[in-house]
Amino acid sequence: MRPPVLLLLVALSVLTPATAAGQVAPRRRDPGRLPPERIVNRDTKVVLLGTGTPNADPDRFGPAVAIIANGKPYLVDAGPGVVRRAAASEKSGVVGLAVKNLNIVFLTHLHSDHTLGLPDLMLSPWTLERTEPIRVYGPKGVKAMTKHILEAYAEDIDIRLNGGEPSNQTGWQVEAHEIDAGVVYQDSNVKVTAFRVDHGKWPESLGYRFDTPDRVVVVSGDTRKTEAIVQQCQECDVLVHEVYSAAGFQRRPPEWQRYHSQYHTSSAELAELASRAKPKLLILYHQLFWGTSDTDLVSEITSRYGGRVVSGKDLDVF
Ligand SMILES: [Zn+2]
Ligand SMILES: [Zn+2]
Repeated sequence: MRPPVLLLLVALSVLTPATAAGQVAPRRRDPGRLPPERIVNRDTKVVLLGTGTPNADPDRFGPAVAIIANGKPYLVDAGPGVVRRAAASEKSGVVGLAVKNLNIVFLTHLHSDHTLGLPDLMLSPWTLERTEPIRVYGPKGVKAMTKHILEAYAEDIDIRLNGGEPSNQTGWQVEAHEIDAGVVYQDSNVKVTAFRVDHGKWPESLGYRFDTPDRVVVVSGDTRKTEAIVQQCQECDVLVHEVYSAAGFQRRPPEWQRYHSQYHTSSAELAELASRAKPKLLILYHQLFWGTSDTDLVSEITSRYGGRVVSGKDLDVF
């Protein structure tokens, strides 16, 4: 037999606390306990979206790192596959990487392996309901690059805006910021400091330091051994640093050895750098293995450096 409606209403009023004005009072939470989704949101996370190089390794997409602070994603670089890697990470349970929330990126430099995903990052999230213009920070040349990308896709943008697709009018737009060393961005979740690194003949190449309430994260970008890393890290929580294998280097032709030693950091050099930067965790990315394995590469460093070292893989979360 079904209970009379009046009885049901009485029962509900007993179960639901109500204010004098008849409104439902907000549910109290034990302040010491947060539901799991809040814990994930609160802690700063470092997600390796892509750990690759120009080598077309199918297991390593182009360089891109997400720092998630208070549930908001801040990207460093936009290598090929960045948007789909963010979607994959979200699908695996990482909170904060919904594609429509990707609206800010800090580019280290304009090498194609770090920027081939930029058109994707500018345009795909827009078609997936991002309404804010994307903010792109980076060295000189970023304004021209983003302008040219929009020009290249002018037909697409026009059709999506005016061809009957229920698209929004703003999410395709770009705010490009050409920056130099110093604090380049700040909000209630994070302070972002750019610093110059030494990437061969590039006139401007940047690394980034992220200060959040619970972590300091430094991302090297592409660089040869650079003193700025030591100054910026200073016992930071996480140092994400590029590297090439010192053993693999020996097998490279002389003209490539000349190039790599000017543009990138060997495992031996990184070990020396890390011993002075003293990160709580050193994550290797943008690894050039040349026939060595992750384990070999880590050993090349730990044979000279006593701290924690991990060879990063795509979709790793730290
Ligand atoms: Zn690179
Ligand atoms: Zn580069």
